Amino acid sequence: MIPPVLPTYNRAKLHFAKGEGSWLIEEDGRRFLDLGSGIAVNVMGHAHPALVKALTDQAQALWHVSNLYEIPQQEALARKLVEASFADTVFFTNSGTECAELAIKMARRYHHAAGQPEKTGFLTFEGCFHGRSTAAIAASGSEKMTQGFGPLMPGFTSLPWDDLDAVEAAITETTGAVLIEPIQGEGGIRPASDAFLKGLRALCDAHGLLLIFDEVQCGMGRTGRLFAHEWSGVTPDIMMVAKGIGGGFPLGAVLATEAAGDPMTAGSHGSTYGGNPLACAVGCAVMDHVGTPAFLDSVNRKAGLLRQKLEGLVADHPGIFEGVRGQGLMLGLKCRVAPGNLVAAGYDAQVITVPAADNVVRLLPPLTVTEDDIAEAARRLDRAAAALAA
Ligand SMILES: *Cc1c(COP(=O)(O)O)cnc(C)c1O
Repeated sequence: MIPPVLPTYNRAKLHFAKGEGSWLIEEDGRRFLDLGSGIAVNVMGHAHPALVKALTDQAQALWHVSNLYEIPQQEALARKLVEASFADTVFFTNSGTECAELAIKMARRYHHAAGQPEKTGFLTFEGCFHGRSTAAIAASGSEKMTQGFGPLMPGFTSLPWDDLDAVEAAITETTGAVLIEPIQGEGGIRPASDAFLKGLRALCDAHGLLLIFDEVQCGMGRTGRLFAHEWSGVTPDIMMVAKGIGGGFPLGAVLATEAAGDPMTAGSHGSTYGGNPLACAVGCAVMDHVGTPAFLDSVNRKAGLLRQKLEGLVADHPGIFEGVRGQGLMLGLKCRVAPGNLVAAGYDAQVITVPAADNVVRLLPPLTVTEDDIAEAARRLDRAAAALAA
């Protein structure tokens, strides 16, 4: 019999009742060290006082008004994002997949307004993940996500990862944009090389294409810069941000240059909840913390420590691990065993990790994780690996 909750997830039998910083507390009282952050969401950890205050203060005043009216919290957050990035303008959503929808619409509208309505195609990459809407699954093209959901939205061409020649060869007169995660998340913590991102920018400029970065997972301080693409020096025309931006409250944002955003005139897009006062009040508090140089320095410092511990773990358990990859606090342990088995062994050792494709287990701790937490994480992962090896 089908359960009341549609069974689209294989859920672990864990019931978390409370969160404190980097810790999740099970109903039975067991404390789990959270190296997953709800999949890169809780950037400030659980129940951070500044976020609790931002949310509850706003909840006392006003929960929801329509985008038919000006929303000061939304304007404040947009201003912070514009000041901190390449972008000139922002549209707020409630999730990453809604960002994908708008990024796709915006790119097509841009070319339509420029008198090149044939430029409707997107170049995407094997292993990519952009969400679960009908457009986003078409963008990914993966069998697992698309099976039974056809006919798929046309216009997406999937190319091998980090292969600039393949991109150049795939560009035709109907190509309109390149869509890429600077570091693939679900695909297994696969960073695009700086040379690849620079090459994509050059190809987009040469062919009049828009470059769209999906930073839903790798953005918001996760890599030690506010946005992951900053490491490469390459800027996009459109960028998707979600997950971390609300610190656990549903919020997403599409950032764009003036040129890319300009054709999105009144009535061309909308959202009932996107940019609501509650989400944007929390988003402002997240930006005020994560967007500061001191916070980002601390992420880099802690990332160095975590990486060093993980390298040690790999050296101690060569039968379980192949290596470490990623950037900042977005790290992947490439495994020689099924990643699900390591994640399960982690549950027994009371440490939360997240599986990904390409035989990788993801480590995405809260960006507020302490050095003590990192030392404890290494001990618990060591216990999990030893249990698997035995
Ligand atoms: C999670 C994710 C999405 C989808 O976000 P949702 O909020 O789950 O809709 C899109 N792109 C990337 C890179 C993601 O990691």
